[in-house]
Amino acid sequence: MGNNEKTNRYDIEQINEARRLSGLKEIRTKGRSCLRCGRKFVSEGDHNRLCDTCRKVSVSEFV
Ligand SMILES: [Zn+2]
Repeated sequence: MGNNEKTNRYDIEQINEARRLSGLKEIRTKGRSCLRCGRKFVSEGDHNRLCDTCRKVSVSEFV
């Protein structure tokens, strides 16, 4: 096991900024904010209230 945490996070605001610069429409999200860290993220559904980062953290807490 390695503690090498490489975070591949998809920051929707960064993506949209890049899309704006490219003249593309912004991606519309459900505008959900993570209950834990408050970051905006793309929600998969109503069951999904935590961003990927926090979900990984909360999962690992139970392992
Ligand atoms: Zn979070």
